[in-house]
Amino acid sequence: MNRPNLEQTDVVRKLIIDGKFVMPVAGQTFGTYNPATGELLATVAQGDAEDIDIAVKAARRAFEGPWSKFTPFQRQEVLLKFADFVDRNFEEFSMLDTLDMGMPISLTRGRRQRAIGMIRFYASMCTAITGRTLPNSLPGDVFAYTLKEPVGVVGAITPWNAPLTSTIWKIGPVLATGCTMVLKPAEDAPLTALRLGELALEAGVPPGVINVVPGLGTVAGAALAAHMDVDKVAFTGSDATGRQIIEASKGNIKRLMLELGGKSPDIVFADADLDRAVPGAAMGIFGNSGQICSAGSRLLVQRSIYDAFVERVADFAKGLKVGNGVETETQIGPVVSSRQMKRVQSYLGIGVDEGAEVVAGGSRIVEGQLGKGYFLEPTVMKNVVPTMRVAQEEIFGPVVTAIPFDEPEDALRIANGTAYGLGSGVWTRDVAKAHVVARGIRSGTVWVNCYGLLDPVIPFGGYKMSGYGRESGHDHVEEYLATKSIVLQNG
Ligand code: NAD
Repeated sequence: MNRPNLEQTDVVRKLIIDGKFVMPVAGQTFGTYNPATGELLATVAQGDAEDIDIAVKAARRAFEGPWSKFTPFQRQEVLLKFADFVDRNFEEFSMLDTLDMGMPISLTRGRRQRAIGMIRFYASMCTAITGRTLPNSLPGDVFAYTLKEPVGVVGAITPWNAPLTSTIWKIGPVLATGCTMVLKPAEDAPLTALRLGELALEAGVPPGVINVVPGLGTVAGAALAAHMDVDKVAFTGSDATGRQIIEASKGNIKRLMLELGGKSPDIVFADADLDRAVPGAAMGIFGNSGQICSAGSRLLVQRSIYDAFVERVADFAKGLKVGNGVETETQIGPVVSSRQMKRVQSYLGIGVDEGAEVVAGGSRIVEGQLGKGYFLEPTVMKNVVPTMRVAQEEIFGPVVTAIPFDEPEDALRIANGTAYGLGSGVWTRDVAKAHVVARGIRSGTVWVNCYGLLDPVIPFGGYKMSGYGRESGHDHVEEYLATKSIVLQNG
């Protein structure tokens, strides 16, 4: 097996700037830890505002330099080679994500088709970027058309919860459109981004096109968001940080794309195929220990089946195999850090204080080997009222709050009754009802009789406080393009 060589924790993983592996100017480093054991996994260079500035300058030079001369076919060729390289090294990427943030290896390996498919999708988009010729009513003989041009230097800031796919979501459209980037990965899981940056260079991406600068969000991230020569920030993370990015972007009126948090409703009607809905709804929240932005964290169940359905989900939760993600039979890994574990635990306390009943899980696992890591039992809370904090605020852990409803209108009112609008689910055999409810939900994605399915071609993003902009699909590539109108009068 092609395991990453992480034994040497004293070897610092350097920043990637202008095609070189460099130490930060101030020489600072930080540790990234394995959440399954609490042990140091690697030491990583910690960039600050000065390093961000050097990286932005390199990205600007690359944007105006040889990269701008690459034809769409040449960018496509590079992307396809990059896809092949990532594919060839996929076992290493699976293991890196499992070790760095805890996602079970069965899940990290299972994303192969999607991850490689994403890169190949962006490759296909290189040659699909076109402007339009525009009929017009201007006097004289006027020929008008639009060009689609890359927006320029992109600052990309990612979270820790799905390093491989969330980094590809940032790199893909940059390479497809001819932009350049400075990528600031999350401090809790920076290793995959660094390895992707290295492979991109090997695949022929010119120096300076992809710069990777790990560092603290409040230092390196903030400097990137505020930098006057960054044209756009593509941010994925919490809504609290999203607000700071908006604030920081004001100086040069940057374009923004914000993929933020959620409190997504998963609605189960009494007429659903319950044998599918039970595992579907359960894994819609417990997959990746609930650390998925669009996790179905509010389970809305029609009252006539509420008790029986919630009991089945609770039984399913109790049967899940919690363990170290490197073991192939593990279904639920740890949460990413001690900080995240404490945050989830505090919500467990809040829910109980608010009157919710814990019918599965509810505790940290303290015995044996798992006691060294940050393992939480998959938790089901019953008798939850929509106004409770545990039904309104994003917990980002393996906790589902089950809320009863009576009629479809009630389900819609509750579903739409939070500040967020990222994902949602509807389980019913009634197609007409599925359409009505899907149209009524204010969220970027509605999954019907499934949950959480993602595809490189299907746009993903938020309504309301879940942010704006879309990743995947044609819409995503558009976000990295500016429209230029050319109005040419003859004679
Ligand atoms: P976070 O907002 O704390 O951090 C995200 C990134 O922002 C990190 O790289 C961090 O270093 C950086 N950052 C922190 N403060 C910053 C600042 N002041 N300026 C600039 N950058 C800063 O989020 P997290 O805890 O890493 O991730 C969890 C959150 O991400 C959840 O809310 C989750 O829902 C959301 N998320 C959303 C999506 C989506 O596609 N909508 C996907 C994954 C995760």
